[in-house]
Amino acid sequence: GQDIKKCRGCGAALQHESQDKPGYLPEKAAGREPVICQRCFRIKNYNEAAAVAVDQDEFLRLLGQIGNQEALVIHIVDIFDFEGSLISGLQRFVGNNPVILAVNKIDLLPKVTNWNKLRNWVQRQCKEHGLRTSEIVLCSAKKNQGFDRLLETIAETRGDRDVYVVGATNVGKSTLINRLIRDYSDLDEELTTSRYPGTTLDMVHIPLDDGRAIIDTPGIVYPWRFSELVVREDLGVVMPENPLKPLVYQLDEGQTLFFGGMCRFDFIQGAHQSFTAFISGSLKIHRTKLERADALYADHAGELLSPPSKKSLEHMPDWTRHELRIPKGSNWDIFISGLGWIKVNGDQGALTAVHAPKGVRVLTRPSMI
Ligand code: GDP
Repeated sequence: GQDIKKCRGCGAALQHESQDKPGYLPEKAAGREPVICQRCFRIKNYNEAAAVAVDQDEFLRLLGQIGNQEALVIHIVDIFDFEGSLISGLQRFVGNNPVILAVNKIDLLPKVTNWNKLRNWVQRQCKEHGLRTSEIVLCSAKKNQGFDRLLETIAETRGDRDVYVVGATNVGKSTLINRLIRDYSDLDEELTTSRYPGTTLDMVHIPLDDGRAIIDTPGIVYPWRFSELVVREDLGVVMPENPLKPLVYQLDEGQTLFFGGMCRFDFIQGAHQSFTAFISGSLKIHRTKLERADALYADHAGELLSPPSKKSLEHMPDWTRHELRIPKGSNWDIFISGLGWIKVNGDQGALTAVHAPKGVRVLTRPSMI
């Protein structure tokens, strides 16, 4: 018979007639090598297109369709920006469908981390935010950790459902989907991943063997994250690339730490105690007296206290002061969305303040590690 050409990506017979059917290839692209259908072409190249992301409302509307069908939802969060990347409205939209929480970027945590303790912490936080999860998988898409476990969990839970992958921008969704594709389909090239927020276009369907699909949804832009506020050149500085090296500071009341020029932490009142900063190693910490902090910032923002540089400072919102009273008793973190956190090691309580660009989410939480 006639030799029907097949897509090198998904294996579907190539056709020029129906754009919404498998194997569609525009006639003018027929000569392209390797011969792949438009859908596979998009999967391979979509990240190179112009940046598009969606706001929360639009995203939740997109998600509306999940509740009405049998689906498995993989909700990816970034352990470095847990409260900033958690989709807290998710529960209302997924209906009774199972949700697997993939906690990504665990390679950033210190090697000595107690993973069981971390998993319990994640579980408690989810409960606090009203999120039900059928499974929590700690993973690193980058270092290929926890990935077998994730695939196993997906296989156990999926049945014959479609798999929706949801996440905020920059949580590693593309990196993870690359791994899924490598495992599930014949696409031999990877998607391009990108460091810049919002580079995933609208829903992308990745066909599975059984006629179901993995559906990659757009990254949600959450305006309260540092990663959405900084200019491109500074993103690589606030987002750690390597495992965090916790920095311990013994502080007396009346002392201040500057994290580059991104943020400032004041220890206003309390007994001498230690604070541990979990932030990107590329951000320099400057210690000074609280009474000198305003003047230091006024004189040296964008220079000694950088990044942001003088130029990128113009694009940053002014700082808001958050006064935070740390209770006595157990350990607490002061969490700054997308920048990291400061662990309060003492149990005597403390009065502190964080100065961060307006809009950045700052909160206290039980210590993560
Ligand atoms: P998306 O916007 O959610 O699709 O995220 P990407 O997959 O494009 O990743 C965003 C950034 O996070 C990139 O700089 C990735 O290299 C980085 N990244 C993704 N997964 C991991 C991970 O497991 N560990 C670390 N340290 N970085 C990761």
